[in-house]
Amino acid sequence: MENNEQKIENNSLCAKCGGLCCQKSGCGFIVSDIKSFKFADMKALLDEGNISIKAVFTPYRANKMTMVLKMRSVDKEVVDLFSASTACKLWTREKGCPLPLELRPSLGAGLIPDLQEECSRNLYDIEEVINDWEKHQDSLAKFVKIYTGKKARDVYEEQIEVTCYKVYKKFLKDRKSLTLGESEILKSIPCMETEFKDVILLGKYRAIKELNEEKI
Ligand code: SF4
Ligand code: SF4
Repeated sequence: MENNEQKIENNSLCAKCGGLCCQKSGCGFIVSDIKSFKFADMKALLDEGNISIKAVFTPYRANKMTMVLKMRSVDKEVVDLFSASTACKLWTREKGCPLPLELRPSLGAGLIPDLQEECSRNLYDIEEVINDWEKHQDSLAKFVKIYTGKKARDVYEEQIEVTCYKVYKKFLKDRKSLTLGESEILKSIPCMETEFKDVILLGKYRAIKELNEEKI
């Protein structure tokens, strides 16, 4: 996917905003950001430690998971299919993004800074971006297997269960303590329930059971 429109950098506006997009999560790559999908090149890229494999769950693909690459977030692993998002691991409050605009993942570089509280417009069409990643699902699944020893779908379900468990436990103890990423998880659950109801409930019931045991 190519985009000939000009990427816009507005350092003063981003400094004023304080880097909300980067504090929310590491930004996403589009397929053409990745120089080579050859096995050795991809392995070297993932081993550098700054990129994660993420699964997105969107209506564009009839609510099925699509794996993509994104900049890694703080405290996350190389296989980070589903978790409460945290800030990009490259971002700092003092310096913002250390990468020049041309080296940033396109979904970060393609954000259009404006005076809204959080920029929502992007130069790239997200549906097209997701569709472009389709042809790389087998390759990404191979890397999930290498790093975890498991099938991608199984890892996704495990991570949904663990994340729901952690978020519900925190929510039921003190809903005000939820981070932005954790609140986003709660918002995303209703649209995932048709496909993943069982694992969502497993996580939720594990949280409730533990809280009840703690009270005894
Ligand atoms: S791109 Fe938008 S959300 Fe991100 S730092 Fe700049 S103004 Fe803030
Ligand atoms: S790579 Fe740069 S622009 Fe993208 S999330 Fe990280 S700090 Fe922000």
